[in-house]
Amino acid sequence: MLQSTMMDVPLSIPFLLERAKSLFADKKVISYIPVGIDPETKAPIPGRLEETYGQMYDRCHQLMHALAEAGIQPGDRVGTFATNTFRHLELYFAAPSMGAVCHMINIRLPDDQVVYIINHAEDKVLFVDNFLAPRLPAILPKCPTIKLVVIMGAVPALPPGAVDYEAFIAHKATEYTYPEIDERQASGMCYTSGTTGNPKGVLYSHRAIVLHCITAAMGELMGLSEADTVLPIVPMFHVNAWGYPYMCPTVGSNLVFTSMFTDPKFLAKVFADEKVTHTAGVPTIWLGLLDELDRAKQAGAPHNTSSINSLVVGGSAAPRGMIEAFGERHNIHVIHAWGMTETTPLGTMNTLKPAHHHLEKAAKYDQMALTGRPTALVQIKLVDEHDHLLPNDGKTIGRLLVRGPWVTASYYKDEAGTAATQQNGWFDTGDIATINSEGYMLIQDRAKDLIKSGGEWISSVDLENTLMGHPSIREAAVVAVPHPKWDERPLGVIVMREGSSVDKTVLDAYLLEHGFAKWMLPDAYEVVAEIPKTSVGKFLKRALREQFKDYKLI
Ligand code: ADP
Repeated sequence: MLQSTMMDVPLSIPFLLERAKSLFADKKVISYIPVGIDPETKAPIPGRLEETYGQMYDRCHQLMHALAEAGIQPGDRVGTFATNTFRHLELYFAAPSMGAVCHMINIRLPDDQVVYIINHAEDKVLFVDNFLAPRLPAILPKCPTIKLVVIMGAVPALPPGAVDYEAFIAHKATEYTYPEIDERQASGMCYTSGTTGNPKGVLYSHRAIVLHCITAAMGELMGLSEADTVLPIVPMFHVNAWGYPYMCPTVGSNLVFTSMFTDPKFLAKVFADEKVTHTAGVPTIWLGLLDELDRAKQAGAPHNTSSINSLVVGGSAAPRGMIEAFGERHNIHVIHAWGMTETTPLGTMNTLKPAHHHLEKAAKYDQMALTGRPTALVQIKLVDEHDHLLPNDGKTIGRLLVRGPWVTASYYKDEAGTAATQQNGWFDTGDIATINSEGYMLIQDRAKDLIKSGGEWISSVDLENTLMGHPSIREAAVVAVPHPKWDERPLGVIVMREGSSVDKTVLDAYLLEHGFAKWMLPDAYEVVAEIPKTSVGKFLKRALREQFKDYKLI
């Protein structure tokens, strides 16, 4: 084989950090973080802090010195138990740049799962947001591998043995010599949020992060640049916050973090104050924001969201009605994306082809509701139960398989989980989907959420998203309940909008109007105050199935 004449430069996170300093040192990371407690409401008060990428660079280098002096070695896991802040961003860069692994732990998981994850990953040090410190007594005694705890932000009193982040990095030198980095070594780590069982660990490589970062930020996907100010609402403790912490410093976009403050009214104000151009989050966040934007508009005091060029929604299926409502009522362009912890996460994004821009309104929103085309370097395909390839005809439903340089080839220390999902170089997502002739994929369901009725499959996601387009419905989840004749039948669990009511006859007519066959319609509806959600805001179907397992369909 003839070798190329090209340099063999490893793809590594320190390159991104160096680039941020040399080209974008004056660009900003703005963090709204809790700085006190309101004496009346007892709610935390947000304070606004600014850091430049130049300052971030220096502090990352100080942090690398501090970690090395604390005995952190290449390959060691550095746990973070934190929300979106500039300090968490420093950890995202510093831990991997010194050869260690930044392990982001989901703060919304219950203590026992946090303990399981820390022990499974064998974290050596834990960086904790100040407001989460009260949880430590329930966690630390059960985590023998943790040798050091660093608290980020002021606390009335440091837990015994813990150090303050600022004291930890203070007076350290601002130049750290990076070790030699193999692009295939682990740089970061996340566990799946356990929607489908015990959390499973995924180790990201420097190479995967860099390739994911440059592909996603540039070109026809996120299209981010120095002109952007990005507010990722998606948490940094879940799947690399979809890559924004690496993307923004690489292309010079400002970053805005709102830590624990994700109330729609507050977010709407931050969008206006910071002139945010791009934002990203799960559908439940956007449904809340949509309500708030509608409310304010009706009250005659609309929020100013005119700076927003694009709003990315992913993590669960985006209801078409929501995409249309943002577009038509608030002039906000929504981009639908799909991904998983196992795919770093960007697998597909729905960017429109030029011809789609000329579609009439309804057809354009139909198009935008699809889950998107694979991002560059990612391949997707559909197979049946015998692993035979299925056609991309937009109709045939199959198991979605994915491969690419930022798709995991195994789970960390979990042979059974690996064997169950790896298939001849492809990863079996556990999702059921269609792909149309233009290459646009649509998630129909998670395999275990599909409803099996009399030998036919009914997509719960499809029903949910259509129901959520009904003006009286705020949230809708559809689950299978056992049926003596049909095996399973759909039950709609709905949350009404304030002051609304609706009955089954109306919803039946609405669904029929939207193309559902009669046999697909839910047999019954239950109105609830709230749909249980996972730690990252997805509908917790497992809990609903459990709650309604003895449901009698009349
Ligand atoms: P967990 O598996 O614990 O929920 P992940 O965040 O990794 O954690 O979830 C990935 C799953 O989320 C996907 O397999 C898919 O089922 C679902 N998902 C993500 N994005 C979308 C989307 N745009 N439409 C439908 N489902 C989605």
